[in-house]
Amino acid sequence: MRYSDFLKHVDEQTRFKGIVRYDEPLSAHTTFKVGGPADVWIRPSADVFQDYAAVLLTLARAEGVPIFILGGGANIVPSDAGFQGVILDTGGYRGCLAVEPGSASFAAGSPIDMAGEIAASRRWGGLEFLAGMPGSIGGAVYMNARCYETSVSDRLVETAVLELDDSVFQKKTVPFRETDFGYKKSPFQSRQVLILSAKFAVCQRESALIREEMDMHRKDRETKGQYRFPSAGSVFKNNRAFGKPVGKIIDELGLRGLSRGGAMVAPFHGNIIVNTGAATADHIRSLTDEVREAVRENTGFVLEPEIIFL
Ligand SMILES: Cc1cc2nc3c(=O)[nH]c(=O)nc-3n(C[C@H](O)[C@H](O)[C@H](O)COP(=O)(O)OP(=O)(O)OC[C@H]3O[C@@H](n4cnc5c(N)ncnc54)[C@H](O)[C@@H]3O)c2cc1C
Repeated sequence: MRYSDFLKHVDEQTRFKGIVRYDEPLSAHTTFKVGGPADVWIRPSADVFQDYAAVLLTLARAEGVPIFILGGGANIVPSDAGFQGVILDTGGYRGCLAVEPGSASFAAGSPIDMAGEIAASRRWGGLEFLAGMPGSIGGAVYMNARCYETSVSDRLVETAVLELDDSVFQKKTVPFRETDFGYKKSPFQSRQVLILSAKFAVCQRESALIREEMDMHRKDRETKGQYRFPSAGSVFKNNRAFGKPVGKIIDELGLRGLSRGGAMVAPFHGNIIVNTGAATADHIRSLTDEVREAVRENTGFVLEPEIIFL
């Protein structure tokens, strides 16, 4: 079936508002600035997002059309050959959806930093640790993103998802259960779900203190050079069993500055690979494999990539 026919079929069952593009370069939607064209890229508007996504996912599954859910593209490396299927971009679905005493819900496509800003403007403390992190709320929940000794799961109250049930994607609320989450692990990584929104615990706090903490984190990331080149942050997951951060292990092997094509182990951090200008997904993958192999040979530790090769 041609994609235009498939989308027509979807449109017959629900209303669409938003943007659709064919052969859309994914390099325009990833923080690494790599990735070939997606057959179709769709970004539904906020007002139709939930209904449209439910129909799109249901029909795609029934008709065998591959779908990939894209948040902020801050943790993925799409192939240079692109993606044969439909990219569902959550970026049009953003903002604070609901507030209750002690909690606030954000739409999945909200940029992480924006959610922090909204919270700060309403004097809700609790999300300061996320300031300056690229990506979306949906992606942060999916990845159980972590920084400054805090994981997204430390603040999560519940997640609204679309999940496959009896051949149809239906809306469900998934209450937070501590045992479902781990270091950079969420239950959604092993379920066929689209995260629609996430409810976080927040508490009233003086706005000057919230701002001070957020600014400190942003400044810290800037000082560490995180925004200097396109990247996807840490390449490998840390592991307590290694006894030290992965970045330190890579540094000690003298791998900073190692490059393959336009991809380079950041001169300022062993666990970050950067795009120095002309990197391809292939360069990033080769360099990732090479670093992994060097660490395995020299230390016996097997590194687990955190970045997702699509
Ligand atoms: C400069 C820099 C610094 C970073 N620092 C950190 C850090 O300190 N800590 C950290 O943990 N990460 C860090 N990252 C990585 C990245 O910011 C996080 O992993 C972020 O949570 C990814 O969100 P995203 O929306 O960009 O996800 P994407 O890259 O778009 O997607 C990642 C995965 O999540 C899935 N996904 C996304 N949205 C949804 C949804 N709504 N429903 C279901 N699945 C979804 C995708 O299908 C994909 O499998 C950094 C990245 C950069 C570039």
